[in-house]
Parts: sequence; C-alpha cells; structure tokens
Amino acid sequence: MKLNIADTFRVKLPADPIMENSRRQVFKSCFSYVTPKKPKAPKLIHAVNEMAMNLGLTETDTQTKSFLDFVSGNQIQANTQPYAMCYGGHQFGHWAGQLGDGRAINLMEVVHNNRRWALQLKGAGETPYSRSADGLAVLRSSIREHLCSEAMFHLGVPTTRSLSLSLSGDEVLRDVLYDGNAAHEKGAIVCRVAPSFIRFGNFEILASRQDHETLRKLTDYTINEYYPHIKAGSKTGYLDFFTTVLQNTITMLVHWQRVGFVHGVMNTDNMSIHGLTIDYGPYGWLEGYDPGWTPNTTDRQFKRYRYGNQAQIGLWNLLQLANALFPLIAEAKPLEAILATYNGIYEEKYLAMMRSKLGLQKTLDTDARLIDNLEENLRLTETDMTIFFRNLGKITATTTITDDASFLKPLEEAFYAFETVKEDVLTAWKNWFTTYTERLAIEDQSSKERVLQMHKVNPKYVLRNYMAQLVIDAADEGDYQLLQDIHEVLKKPYDEQIENEKWFAKRPEWARHKVGCSMLSCSS
Ligand code: AMP
Ligand code: MG
Repeated sequence: MKLNIADTFRVKLPADPIMENSRRQVFKSCFSYVTPKKPKAPKLIHAVNEMAMNLGLTETDTQTKSFLDFVSGNQIQANTQPYAMCYGGHQFGHWAGQLGDGRAINLMEVVHNNRRWALQLKGAGETPYSRSADGLAVLRSSIREHLCSEAMFHLGVPTTRSLSLSLSGDEVLRDVLYDGNAAHEKGAIVCRVAPSFIRFGNFEILASRQDHETLRKLTDYTINEYYPHIKAGSKTGYLDFFTTVLQNTITMLVHWQRVGFVHGVMNTDNMSIHGLTIDYGPYGWLEGYDPGWTPNTTDRQFKRYRYGNQAQIGLWNLLQLANALFPLIAEAKPLEAILATYNGIYEEKYLAMMRSKLGLQKTLDTDARLIDNLEENLRLTETDMTIFFRNLGKITATTTITDDASFLKPLEEAFYAFETVKEDVLTAWKNWFTTYTERLAIEDQSSKERVLQMHKVNPKYVLRNYMAQLVIDAADEGDYQLLQDIHEVLKKPYDEQIENEKWFAKRPEWARHKVGCSMLSCSS
C-alpha cells in the first residue's frame, strides 16, 4: 500500500503547542496533534474501491490488513502526524464558541493525479475538542454517513466522500431518543475524504478571539492551496475568495433542492469552505414533497433547517463567514455587496435547475409561475417527489388532459392516495398540466430527447430514509449484504435498473413514524 503523502494544513499552519490530549480551549492555533484510539477489534465492513483508486490505491490494497489498520486508526502511517482541527460555530442561530473536531481525526493529505485529498477518521476517539462527549461514533450513524456521502457523489451533488466503514470492536453508550434510556451500541469508524475539511467555523473561531494573525494565515493558506487563481494577501483577494465560497455554497444548495436532500443541521461548523455537503447527521430525503419538513427532532420546534429554508440559511451562514473575514478587509460595504447578490444568483440557478427537471430548454418569463404552481400542487396531497419528477417525462406535449384523473395515470405511483386527487385537487392538476403541455409544445426537442435529458437530473434512486434504516437493522445483526447491494444501486441513481425497481417506490407505511426513518436525533 503506497500513498503519496503531502501534508500542507498541519505543515503550513500554526499547531497547538500542547501535545497532551486534554479537553481545553485552544488558542492561536488551527489544530492540535492527537493519536487515534486503538480500536479493540477492528473489522472492515465496506471499502469504496473507486475512492481508493482516487488515492492511488488498488482494489487489492483495500483487502489487506494494513488497509484495515490504516482506516481504523489501529496503525499510524510513517511520516504522518494525525491532528484535530480547531473551529467554532453558530448552532441553531447562536454562537457556540469553540467546537472543533471532537471525534474526527485527520490522518494526512494525499496527492494523486494532481488532486489533493485530506483523509479523516470519524469516531476514532477523544481530542481536545471532545467537550463532554466520547469521541466515538456508532454503527448506525456511520452507515448513514458512509452510504449517503457516496449516494450524493453519484447524484452529482458536491460532497465529502467515504473511503471505508469499519467496526471498531468497542461498545459505545448512546441515548438515541434523549429520554434517559441509554444503551450500548456497536462502535464504528468512517474514513472520509475531501479536498479539505475546512469549515466556515475555522474562520469564525479565530475572528471571535480577535486572533487576526492566525485568521490571515488560514485564509491565505486556503486561497493559495485551493483557489490558486485568487491572489492571497490582498483585500480584493479576500473578497474574491468570499464571492467564490458564496457561489459554491449556492451551487451545493440548489443540488440539495433538486434531489430533495435535507441536511438537518446547517450550523456554520457544518458548512464546508468548498461548498461540499459535510457532516451527515440527522439528514433526510423528502418523500412526500413538503418544504416544511426536517428529519431532525432536535429542530422540531422551529424547523430552522427545513427543506424550504435551506437557501435562506445558506445566506445567514455566509453572513457569519463575512463577519469572520471582516477583520482582513476592514470594510463592510464590499462584503455587503457580495451578500446582496445571493438571492439573485440563487433564484437564477434554482429556476434553471427546475426548468431542467421539467425538461424545458427555452426560457420564458412565465416559467417561474409554472414552477411556483407546481410546488403548490405537490403539497395539495401527499406526493412523492422522486417518483413524480422521474415519471413526469411520461407526459408529453400531445398528452390529452382529460376531464377525469386518467391523464395522471402515468404519475399515479407518486401519489400516496391517488383517490384523493379529485375535486379541487384534480382541478389544480388539470390546470397545471394544461399549461405544462402547452409549454412543452413550444420546445424544439423531441419527447424522446427530452426524457433522456430529464432522467439525467431527476434521479430514480435516492437513499430513502427507510432504506438506510433497513441497512442498519441488517448490519446490527452482522449482515452487510444489503449495505453492499444498496451501495451498488446508488452508484447509478439515474439508470433504470429494472432489477432494482423495488427501491423505486414510496416509503412503506411502517416507516412513516419510525425512529431512524422519519425522525432522527443528533445522537450519533
Ligand atoms: P455535529 O452536531 O455532529 O456537527 O457536532 C458538533 C460538535 O460536536 C463538533 O465539534 C463535533 O466534533 C462534536 N461532537 C459530536 N459528537 C461527538 C462525540 N461523540 N464525541 C466528541 N465530540 C462530538
Ligand atoms: Mg459537525
């Protein structure tokens, strides 16, 4: 097993001089050196071969003991020095002070085929940032991170990746419902991979402490390593950097809306500086189209991080990043001007994305209203988002909009109770499809070409919440076949995969209110 190790973050940025692994506030540093906990009985559950190859490893490498030792934290590689990053964050709208990698340990950076990858173990033990927690992760949440990050990648959504999922062999105590019923669960470790794991919160913590020197170092480092076209060290460079982060964040959020992904905990410590989806916790996928939905039970009251609010939270989080970068720029106006572009850019990208979901190539002023009306109709009765858009291609410019509901037959599967599509609901759909079919008639593309294009943006297979739970239930019993099977399905989310049709179905009723399916806490 040979990796081209090329550490920069820990080499170029200030390290915490204290080497002892005690919980503390860490000042004037970007990270602290730590050693992963030795797992009691490590066992590899699943390795992602494509990811291994990105790092310059082979499929055979992933089957070796040294690979397991590496991705479980059992053995530290030569010439590496693992570390935990220092960051802060705004949690649910409030400044929370120092957070940091409480259970993530960075192993190294690797460069392969001119691409830089940081490798990080999640659940490998305590760090100075663990606060009152244990630094560990349980199997269920690790499966959710492992599978979902790969599913998102194959959907074309910017995301961190997962190289592997292993059992640690240690037991971890968790109170899933926060109701005083703690129980032991299997401990697990995900080795996740990204260009870097730098978050908005890495900048915020330094600004909050008025440590402008380290703030400047971190910002210049990030620009030089990851945005080499931007000139670090100057006011305009910092503004260009902020503009780029804003644009990348919007791109990510529009993808989330496209596939129906709800992150669940969009705190600023969970916002990647690269615009990658990061920290898969109590996330969920829309089943019935409902902008008010969040899977996170901790957010039940205000639903701050609901599907329909993700764009506005993105802007709020960018405002916090702007505040953090302000000391380097010392002028509020240009930062405000960049923030003021957010809604316009978002709306434009969102509209373009929705047009592509509807198979529209031309741009008409009336399209925004068509899309608004569609979103209203999808909420009239419970309608599965994924199935609706996937089957929408079956409606063409020449489809007759009948007086009864028969014109909706091709979309029947999307409705939870098709018989409720009557009276006002039916009228609303008739009106909408009349406008839509007329709109399709203006397009130049053939129906066949249109469907092909629509199927590239409307996935057939997403990681429905209950699918992840089925994988977890089987894995708890030591059966990992379903995990492998579902991983394979999710690698080709836009393909028909007739043999996997059973995953192209509405959530079964048993999963409607089940913990782990529709309700998730932050306990992980
Ligand atoms: P999260 O809500 O998962 O994004 O985590 C927020 C903060 O809590 C981060 O600093 C995490 O590293 C930390 N954290 C979460 N779970 C644990 C844990 N089991 N042990 C130590 N730190 C944790
Ligand atoms: Mg986090």
